[in-house]
Amino acid sequence: MGLIRNWRRRRLLQHNPLAAESWQALCAAVPLLACLSAAERERLRELATIFLAEKTLLGVQGHTLEEEHRQLLAALAVLPILALDSDWYEGFLEVIVYPDEFIPRHEVEDEQGLVHVRHIPLSGESWSHGPVILSWVDVEASMALDGYNVVIHEFAHKLDMLNGDANGMPPLHRDMRPADWTTAFRAAFEQLNFELEAGRETLIDPYAAEDPAEFFAVLSEVFFERPGDVQRGYPAVYEQLRTFYRQDPAARMQAVYGGS
Ligand SMILES: [Zn+2]
Repeated sequence: MGLIRNWRRRRLLQHNPLAAESWQALCAAVPLLACLSAAERERLRELATIFLAEKTLLGVQGHTLEEEHRQLLAALAVLPILALDSDWYEGFLEVIVYPDEFIPRHEVEDEQGLVHVRHIPLSGESWSHGPVILSWVDVEASMALDGYNVVIHEFAHKLDMLNGDANGMPPLHRDMRPADWTTAFRAAFEQLNFELEAGRETLIDPYAAEDPAEFFAVLSEVFFERPGDVQRGYPAVYEQLRTFYRQDPAARMQAVYGGS
């Protein structure tokens, strides 16, 4: 299976990669991608080519995904796996795109065993063994370096789900220790909750305090978009994320923008 897939991918990249010119224009227009080196942008192009060939991007509720939109979505989606590889996004085939926030039908059971139907508008959602769902308005809002990035958020959940339910710890590399990850993230999670309870301004979206899975997803957004903030506010978490993603966005942005 793996051999055939790799052969297919090699053939795809040889014969049908995304056009270099439009790719460069796309990267130049998105500050998050403009700070990548030429070699990184080339690798991103390969991963995006494979992503678009292997995943079905489906616009719903009348939303049409033009080719440039497909490429933008793919570029943002594969940024987290830039230094990993396409296999990290296995286990799902579809990315569903709504024009704007969508209201899924969620049934939740309370402590008394009563089932309630929740109708909360969402900007994105990742299903275990199922699709990633995104609102296009929010994808477009993910282009500024403000720490908000629904695409990175949802795909971080996908990485987290590779080893079971989303719990804030994706499968770690061999050179990483789960205890180091847990210690760093637990301390930061407690710090955020303490700040919220004290009514203080927080470095990251308070939504991150929901649970460890949301904490990891929100911190992944900020790690790529405002890495200096994670490095200053949660240095041990920054080190874990840098080792996991095998990327150092703070150094990258410092070199290009002189800050983060
Ligand atoms: Zn989430």
